[in-house]
Amino acid sequence: MTTRDTNSPTLRSWVQVPANSDFPIQNLPFGIFSTPRRSPRAGIAIGEYILDLNALAEMGYFDVLQLDKKVFSQPVLNDFIALGQKAWRAVRSRVSELLDEKTQALQSQPEAREQCLVPMSEATLHLPVRIGDYTDFYSSIDHATNMGKMFRDPENALLPNWKHIPVGYHGRASSIVVSGTPFRRPKGQTKAPDAEVPTFNPTRLLDFELETAFIVGKPTQLGESISTAAADEHIFGMVLFNDWSARDIQAWEYVPLGPFLAKNFCSVVSPWIVTLDALEPFRVPGYTQEPAVLPYLEYTGDKNIDIALEVAIKPENAAETVVCRSNYKYMYWTMEQQLAHHTVNGCNMNVGDMLASGTISGPHEGSFGSMMEITWRGTKPVPMADGSERKFINDGDTVIIRGFATKNGVRIGFGECASKALPAV
Ligand code: CA
Repeated sequence: MTTRDTNSPTLRSWVQVPANSDFPIQNLPFGIFSTPRRSPRAGIAIGEYILDLNALAEMGYFDVLQLDKKVFSQPVLNDFIALGQKAWRAVRSRVSELLDEKTQALQSQPEAREQCLVPMSEATLHLPVRIGDYTDFYSSIDHATNMGKMFRDPENALLPNWKHIPVGYHGRASSIVVSGTPFRRPKGQTKAPDAEVPTFNPTRLLDFELETAFIVGKPTQLGESISTAAADEHIFGMVLFNDWSARDIQAWEYVPLGPFLAKNFCSVVSPWIVTLDALEPFRVPGYTQEPAVLPYLEYTGDKNIDIALEVAIKPENAAETVVCRSNYKYMYWTMEQQLAHHTVNGCNMNVGDMLASGTISGPHEGSFGSMMEITWRGTKPVPMADGSERKFINDGDTVIIRGFATKNGVRIGFGECASKALPAV
């Protein structure tokens, strides 16, 4: 098979792709979708359509790849992902070829096109993977510095370990949902600083956390470690991630073992997994890491990625307000370092594990990735387009995260990661 440059800016598809679409032919992200007539199955986003990979496989369009076709008819992508990086690349390359305006194989077959292309507006998008384990890092230096300034010492905002360890904690996978899934404001124990005993009530300080997450695509055995150099072949791709948080519950419970019920009531992912291959042209240098990291965390090459990120709050029946513009390139610790650190002790990884970045804040006001930082603990309310203001998130608010990388006229986007806060019951 010839090697195809799936990222070339000159590629054009015969499928109409609107100018500002997140899903040009250079992207080709994987997801799971269904319609009233189609059971949940694998698809690839192209413009305003979804390419049905199961239908393509059944019609023989993947026969040249000699894959097990059953992987595309599953309600999650795990079996497909488990085929490995060579298979991901082969499928992405074949789809790129089939969608290319220069290729007739599918373009000139009206019946096959009808079978394979589903308008996204008619489809339901599902959680794309069965998530085994979920880990959340704390890898944005500006976020960690802001939190340290607010809660500890402005002069010594970062804890002594922060520049040596990609700090993280084990989260909970069961409450991770796909974009569009509403959730109830959580209830729990909170205690005001001047109160003697805690009370039980709905959280008063509901907050989002602007994050991304990556999906593990290659497993390891217990006892095995992944080097920073080998990490990329273990990463299938990335999604946007909103790690909903209840700040008052968090403040009371988090010592000494870290967040528990303040963080595990709902986290939301965008439905399309954008492959590392699609993001490769947008790699940029990361922060200079000083002091030098231990050898197992060293890496070479540009391992950060220039992905513009934004967060909007949309009150019920009102226009949205963008409250944050950040960028993935502000991450201090890279995904490769996170994976190397996570496995350095022999902790094994499984296909479908999800590792989130931690809140991604930039270095200046306007680029902070949580309401905690944006309103500086509620002391600086943020004005909304409808004339109201927010310190934290109100019932009825929908929080929408968007992300995209642009270069040479190509825009590789993630779609939306949206979720609505319903009143507590
Ligand atoms: Ca988080």
